[in-house]
Amino acid sequence: MEHSLYIHIPFCTHRCAYCDFNTYAGQETLMPAYVNALIREIQFIQQRLDQETSRLSDHPTIKTVFFGGGTPSLLSPPQFEAILSSIRSAFALTPNAEITIEANPGTVTYEDLRRLREIGINRISFGVQSANPFELRMLERAHTFFDVIQAVTSARKAGFDNLNLDLIYGLPEQTLASWQTTVRRILDLHPEHISAYALTLEHGTPFGRWASKGLLPLPDPDLAAEMYEWASEALEANGYVQYEISNWAKDDRRPQTVDDNPSSIVHRPPSTVYPPPSFACKHNLQYWRSLPYLGLGAGAHGYAGGYRYSNVLRIKTYIERLTNYQSTNYPFPFSPAAVNRHRQTLEDDMSEYMLNNLRLVKAGVAESDFRSRFGRGLLEVYGREVEELLQSGLLEYQEGTYRLTRRGRLLGNRVFVRFV
Ligand code: SF4
Repeated sequence: MEHSLYIHIPFCTHRCAYCDFNTYAGQETLMPAYVNALIREIQFIQQRLDQETSRLSDHPTIKTVFFGGGTPSLLSPPQFEAILSSIRSAFALTPNAEITIEANPGTVTYEDLRRLREIGINRISFGVQSANPFELRMLERAHTFFDVIQAVTSARKAGFDNLNLDLIYGLPEQTLASWQTTVRRILDLHPEHISAYALTLEHGTPFGRWASKGLLPLPDPDLAAEMYEWASEALEANGYVQYEISNWAKDDRRPQTVDDNPSSIVHRPPSTVYPPPSFACKHNLQYWRSLPYLGLGAGAHGYAGGYRYSNVLRIKTYIERLTNYQSTNYPFPFSPAAVNRHRQTLEDDMSEYMLNNLRLVKAGVAESDFRSRFGRGLLEVYGREVEELLQSGLLEYQEGTYRLTRRGRLLGNRVFVRFV
């Protein structure tokens, strides 16, 4: 079966005030030891796979690799090369595997990017967040929008033809006009993919603490909804296909509509009737389709072999666990860094399937796919929930598929909670 591979790089030069990711500033001296530990974890998983191939129904191949963080672009090209070469020795990568790194504008030079492209990285996701200098400062981001322009220009020159730009909206004191300017400036850069997430105030972050003391003007939910709807329309009008609640991508194939070939569409499963746009993020689609992925690195999460699991958070502990382990008695997919594991029940998998797949606003949840995955009818399991959501106008049904309505996209959490 095809798996994805997530590699966590938990280093940042500075900790942004809203961030609750597992990332650490001021620990750059640990990078070489961390890269070695990652390589040991990759080799460890490979050995488990080799030993257990007979037990597993099918030896996994890897279709996507995603270096997330943190700020992966703080690693040097030779460090990426070492990690990628150990991935290639350990696993069978599918031809044209998508290999993404997250990068912060301002942390990459043209030379670095050229080298990264040469070693096989074929997609970059830049954390832009805003084009407004005041908003970037408030988020404590270290880059300017000028850095973004430079990073995109250098990436193009280095040969990258698949770029994502990440945005955040619903910022305190953000106006609709400043958000519109950000979206327009992003469109001027012609990325293949755009993500736009609403700011969330997380407990334990400076933003969360300031907001709880009333020191941060809270984002207005109505204004945030207006920003979302305006961006959805502007992006669609500029040729981006919204395939997930917060993600838009270019599609260089001719769109297929029901009128194209009605007879073939009737007989094909909905997943092929509504393929994602060609520049959709294949790695994230693996999550949204509830398909397996291995998580490596400090604090990484994985979903494979019937388990959800996560690795130890701290960088030093992660390195120690991969350096000094006594036992090799860890069945696939666990390495000595794994500290939490949960054996998935059928109910867990069905519930997560609904939560994840409903995020795919075009593909939605097809009754036929649910039955082929779980051997049960969707309405047999979730009849009452689906009926209520249809009645309240948050879900719609068409040709064997349930999807979020436009209102349902805005109130996604009210839908998802019904399947938990
Ligand atoms: S750069 Fe990204 S990962 Fe690092 S602290 Fe800021 S928001 Fe978090």
